[in-house]
Amino acid sequence: MRKPRRSRNGSPHVVVVGAGFAGLAAVKTLAKVKPPVRVTLLEQHNYHLFQPLLYQLATGLVQPADIAHPVRGIVRRHRRTSVRMATVSGVDFDTREVLTEEGRRFGYDYLVLAAGATTATFGIPGVEEHSFPLKSMPDALRLRAHLLRQFELAENDPAEIAKGALTVVVVGGGPTGVEMAGALHELFKHVLVHDFPDLDINQARVVLLEATDHLLAPFHPSSRQHALEILAKRGVEVRLGQALEQATPDEVRLKDGTVIPTRTLVWGAGVRAHPLADVLGLEQTRGGRIVVGDGLSVPGRPEVFVVGDLAGAGDGKGGLLPQVAQPAIQEARHAALNIERTLKGEPRTGFEYKDKGIMATIGRNAAVTELPSGARFKGVVAWYLWLALHLAYIIGFRSRVAVLVNWIWSYLTYDRHARIIVAVEPTRRAARAGQPSAGAAPSPAASRDRPVVP
Ligand SMILES: Cc1cc2nc3c(=O)[nH]c(=O)nc-3n(C[C@H](O)[C@H](O)[C@H](O)COP(=O)(O)OP(=O)(O)OC[C@H]3O[C@@H](n4cnc5c(N)ncnc54)[C@H](O)[C@@H]3O)c2cc1C
Repeated sequence: MRKPRRSRNGSPHVVVVGAGFAGLAAVKTLAKVKPPVRVTLLEQHNYHLFQPLLYQLATGLVQPADIAHPVRGIVRRHRRTSVRMATVSGVDFDTREVLTEEGRRFGYDYLVLAAGATTATFGIPGVEEHSFPLKSMPDALRLRAHLLRQFELAENDPAEIAKGALTVVVVGGGPTGVEMAGALHELFKHVLVHDFPDLDINQARVVLLEATDHLLAPFHPSSRQHALEILAKRGVEVRLGQALEQATPDEVRLKDGTVIPTRTLVWGAGVRAHPLADVLGLEQTRGGRIVVGDGLSVPGRPEVFVVGDLAGAGDGKGGLLPQVAQPAIQEARHAALNIERTLKGEPRTGFEYKDKGIMATIGRNAAVTELPSGARFKGVVAWYLWLALHLAYIIGFRSRVAVLVNWIWSYLTYDRHARIIVAVEPTRRAARAGQPSAGAAPSPAASRDRPVVP
């Protein structure tokens, strides 16, 4: 087995894959560990994306730069951290090298895999081809452009309405589906109603489909009921116990035989581990997530850690931790500290998740928040808590101010200034195919020609 390369100054080299919540938390913690380590952060985009506000990008409330921050800007104060814009395609665990689609190899002493998750369509016919997922910046921009185009189309030819131009079907009654349905309804009934005075906006429909008999699965029944009542009161058609059977470009068919004409199927029903997990040859668990031990490293490979949505970290009760931001951040910090403990010759510690509560927004003045103490909030108080917390987690003062200004402006005027049609190419399907490029290690020839870094 080849010995791993060390960085030029002799300190151990840690490669972190992914600049999401987990990857950034790992990098920030690693910047402070003693003895110092050199870190290389590999990220396929040049930005960190704040996914929780993607639905606001899709509904014209915020702009791309408000929820995306250049990775280089985030880490530039960490002298020992370098960033490479690269798409990781595989890992050679024996030689301890990360392989990228661009044909480069990055040697490591420790590896932190934090490539996140992707949309799971559960093999339902037509969903892959005809739905709008909400996982990336292009996803949100495509959905925004598509929605606005449907309104333009319907105003030019009202016959399009009966064909589903103004009907949006959102699948999945979890937090993403609920916030998306609420936001779409507000966009239609408070904003586009003024832009399209010749359209009968009452014909615009938002249908929220949920296969179980309740919304917001992780929440207390009273919070679920609150979400249901608010959405119904505001005009969202919530259909519980209704599962999607098939999607085409013009309609969706439900399991009970109902057909809903629609050109906009928003998919918020599930995620699975990033496809990178499928090509690494590591043991996987539910949703393709990579099995990790309680110290968050891979069994049999103590130098490889997996954190965030990619990891199948246990919740201590026999299940897996949810694929949301807090577990991702806490796992990443813990993995980085376990690297530090190893370097100091100390034993590693097991990861314990500290539950900080859950929250979901339903729309203007409406949200639900549940704290670990058992305290529950709903309505305006929960909404303010949701706003404050999400604002706090956005990276960069400028972005925080921009989002806050947009929120205040929209709250006072019901306006959403970012209702702009921008062509986002390539098409949804092609973009997804070329997106998280799972597997496909570079050809041996390409690898030979490239330097091993650092
Ligand atoms: C629409 C939406 C709303 C959400 N709302 C909430 C919420 O309100 N609260 C909450 O707690 N959580 C929410 N989540 C979940 C939360 O965003 C995720 O749990 C969190 O982002 C996971 O962090 P991560 O670092 O594991 O993955 P990510 O944040 O997804 O980061 C993974 C990173 O890896 C990069 N990457 C992927 N593949 C490669 C590759 N091959 N090579 C190089 N880089 C790669 C990606 O570009 C990305 O930057 C939401 C998610 C979505 C999609």
